[in-house]
Amino acid sequence: MTILVLGGAGYIGSHTVYELIDSGEDVVIADNLETGHIEAVHPKARFYKGDIRNKEFLDDLFNKEKIDSVIHFAANSLVGESVTKPLKYYENNLYGTMVLLKSMVEHDIKKIVFSSTAATYGEPENIPILENDRTEPTNPYGETKLAMEKMFKWVANAHGLRFVSLRYFNACGAHVSGEIGEAHNPESHLIPLILQVPNGQREKIAIFGDDYDTKDGTCIRDYIHVTDLAQAHILAVKYLNEGKESNIFNLGNGVGFSVKEVIETARKVTGHPIPAMISPRRAGDPAKLVASSEKAKKILGWKPKYADLEYIIASAWKWHKNHPKGYENND
Ligand code: UDP
Repeated sequence: MTILVLGGAGYIGSHTVYELIDSGEDVVIADNLETGHIEAVHPKARFYKGDIRNKEFLDDLFNKEKIDSVIHFAANSLVGESVTKPLKYYENNLYGTMVLLKSMVEHDIKKIVFSSTAATYGEPENIPILENDRTEPTNPYGETKLAMEKMFKWVANAHGLRFVSLRYFNACGAHVSGEIGEAHNPESHLIPLILQVPNGQREKIAIFGDDYDTKDGTCIRDYIHVTDLAQAHILAVKYLNEGKESNIFNLGNGVGFSVKEVIETARKVTGHPIPAMISPRRAGDPAKLVASSEKAKKILGWKPKYADLEYIIASAWKWHKNHPKGYENND
C-alpha cells in the first residue's frame, strides 16, 4: 500500500513523511520545489519533481506507482501574500486541486487527506472553535481552502471518493532529530522570526498590536507541534482505510498563548533577552484563535504529545540554531 504525499518537501509535508516512514509505510513524494526543499525529502521516499497543475505529470505518476491514498499538502499558505496575489492562490490551491481530483477520479484513487486551516473560519463566533461553527474566511488563502473542502464534498458525492480535511491551527516546532524544520523565504511566522533574534539575524521582534481584547493585549493563538499534526495524518489515512465516511477535523492543542507569552518562553529556552517592540496591528489578524480538537481526539483517537510550549520552542530552536539559513538550497 503506497501513500502519495503531494508537497512532501514542505514543512508539514516533510514531517508527515518522516512519521509515515517510521511507521513502516511505502511513500512516494511529489513536489514542485517552489516552496519545498529537496533536502527535506526523506531518503527512503521515492521522489518525483512536478506540479499538481500538470495533469500529464499526475497521470504518469499514477500509472507508474500503485497509489492507495493521497495526502495533499501542495498549496500556497501565506495569508498576507494571498491578499496581494489572490489569483496565485486560486490557481495553485483551487485549480491545482481540481486537476488532482480529475486525475484521481480517472485512476480510481478513492482516498485523500488534505491540509485545511483555521483560516476557513475567519473571525470566530465562539472560542474554542468547533468544526461546525460559521466559516467566513477573511482572506483568499482561507477562501481557497474552504472552496477546496467544498469541491471535495461534491466530487466525493459524485465519484465515490472519501476525504478527510484537517484544519490546522498554528503549526510550529521541528522534528526531534533536528534534521528537518521550518524554513520559509521570506519568513512570516512568529516563532521562527523570534528565533532569528538569538541567531543574530534580527535585532528585535515586532509585536503586531498590544491593544486587542485579550489578557495582555496581544493576539492569542493555538500552537500545535508539527509532529503532532503529522501523526493526525497517519490516523486520518487509517480512518479512511477502515471505510469510514468523509470528515473534517480541527487540529490544535486547545490552549491559547499570547504573542508576549511566546516571546517570554523563547527567552527562557534560548537564554537570550530577545528585545521586542510594539508595532501596529497586522491587517486581518483575529484577536483569538483556539481550537476544540475534541472531535479529532474522539473519532481519530488523536493525542497530541507536545502540548508544552517550552518543548515546542526548544525543538524549533534546535533546528534554527543548527540551520540559521534554513536549508542549503534555500531560495
Ligand atoms: N506576530 C507578531 N509579530 C511577528 C509575526 C507574527 O506579533 O513578527 C503575531 C501575529 O500577529 C499573530 C501571531 O503572532 O497574532 C501568530 O502569527 P503567525 O504569522 O505565526 O501565524 P498566523 O496566526 O497568522 O497563522
